[in-house]
Amino acid sequence: MTDKLFLDLVNIVGESKVSDKLYERMLYDHDIAPLPPEISLIFNTIPDIVVKPSSVEETSKILKYAYENKIPVIPRGASTWGFGGTIPTNGGIVLELTELKKLSLDVENQTVTVGAGIRWKSLIDYLENCGYTFNVYPSSAISATIGGWIATGGLGIGSLKHGHLKEHVIGLQIITSNGEIKNLSNDNQSESKIIDEIIGSEGTLGIITEATLQIIASPEKTISIAVSFNDFNSLTSVIEKVVVEPVKPYFIEAQDKDYLDLKKAIGIESPDVPILALFVYNGSTSQVEKDVKTLNKLVLEVKGSILPSEFAEKEWIERFYYMRIRKGGPTLLAGEITHPLNKLEEVVNETRIIKKKHNLRMGIKCIMVAEDTVMFMPMYLADERKRWKFVSLLPIVNDITNIGLNAGGGPYGFGIWNSFFLGKVIGDQKLVEIKALKKKMDPNNIMNPSKKYKVMTKFGIPLWGFTFKLFTSVLGLLKYF
Ligand SMILES: Cc1cc2nc3c(=O)[nH]c(=O)nc-3n(C[C@H](O)[C@H](O)[C@H](O)COP(=O)(O)OP(=O)(O)OC[C@H]3O[C@@H](n4cnc5c(N)ncnc54)[C@H](O)[C@@H]3O)c2cc1C
Repeated sequence: MTDKLFLDLVNIVGESKVSDKLYERMLYDHDIAPLPPEISLIFNTIPDIVVKPSSVEETSKILKYAYENKIPVIPRGASTWGFGGTIPTNGGIVLELTELKKLSLDVENQTVTVGAGIRWKSLIDYLENCGYTFNVYPSSAISATIGGWIATGGLGIGSLKHGHLKEHVIGLQIITSNGEIKNLSNDNQSESKIIDEIIGSEGTLGIITEATLQIIASPEKTISIAVSFNDFNSLTSVIEKVVVEPVKPYFIEAQDKDYLDLKKAIGIESPDVPILALFVYNGSTSQVEKDVKTLNKLVLEVKGSILPSEFAEKEWIERFYYMRIRKGGPTLLAGEITHPLNKLEEVVNETRIIKKKHNLRMGIKCIMVAEDTVMFMPMYLADERKRWKFVSLLPIVNDITNIGLNAGGGPYGFGIWNSFFLGKVIGDQKLVEIKALKKKMDPNNIMNPSKKYKVMTKFGIPLWGFTFKLFTSVLGLLKYF
């Protein structure tokens, strides 16, 4: 089968874009999150083949072939998403989309059409050189691809002021599971509904090959202010007052002392404060100046203090590098949940209980992604070379997700590891609807199967949340032997 698969795919795209070599396929058996080798006991994470199409037409032909032969297709951008979305669970074709690099600016309509493989930072830099900007992007923008972020989160830098990525996508080109190329526009009501479903579908409904995005002129002024707060309650009360128009900042993030200490431990200079927050404003010079005055006043009221501007400038650059603390691990594990702002202190306290219980080297970082929504990211160091101890630390990520659920929020994406929470997060009615849509758009179940809706082991047996927890807990117990 593999020889035939190789030859068939070579016939479609040429030999230079196909690899069946084991050492290369092994590079595609994981994403950014570290996994113990024991995962191969339940999943076959090494793809049968890796293909890197360089055009939409080639991508379409590969899909058509996979559809006819019922072969799983796992779309992949830069694999920076840590929920297992790009990891095969039982072999198949990994379809790397980083060569889809179209970039075309329409100045008249203030739109840009981009290939799925372009990195977000390249797009932002290109637009800035032309006097434009795109309002939102992920903090992983240096690596993350256009297609990868549309297929997953859609909340990140700029979302606080400009909303979800969805609000700025005006058209998508997708390839459905049978290879059909569809150009969808938000101007058409029924197409707009499909666009809505494709955004965040995690590669399970089709391949995103191009996106047309609404852009705006670059803001006149951008300013970042670093603030020290004594506790999360003071931070929350200031945020509540500034996330209203017209003062709304472009971006707000916060790091606790533990996170700052992890940065210091690897030589990154950081202030010695209980909480370091960064407020970034952009817009017209006069509005930004007014907003900064308002912030100053509010900070003083809660006995916080404005830090020297060099900290703010450094932190704004650092927004792309918040996983640097991994150096101290050498492994980094992270929870990622969203929850209402008024639960921030409660979520922090419960997370710190977990930190204490397991004696973790853990720090907290969070960003505001909507007026009332925090993306909460506690990160803790581990050492995957100490195998069993490392495995015992993995289920803590689930404990953090449960804190988010109890606070009225939930996990930020599903993939493999959070698929068990899907029903709880979206509710029974929506679950029925999206399962029906999956069946309709992907009748042969080849599009990133065994993700999000139902995870299957390589033996064809469904993996339920409690069996997975049991599996990791049993492996973790081996640290005592
Ligand atoms: C340091 C860091 C910061 C991050 N910051 C953010 C953030 O601010 N906001 C946020 O939302 N996420 C963030 N993430 C998570 C992740 O980086 C983003 O979700 C990112 O956009 C994924 O892009 P990617 O190209 O790496 O996708 P991948 O990881 O390659 O893929 C992610 C999922 O999308 C599917 N997929 C990929 N490309 C396509 C395509 N063209 N068509 C269909 N399906 C596809 C894959 O099958 C997989 O299920 C961060 C991650 C890191 C490591």
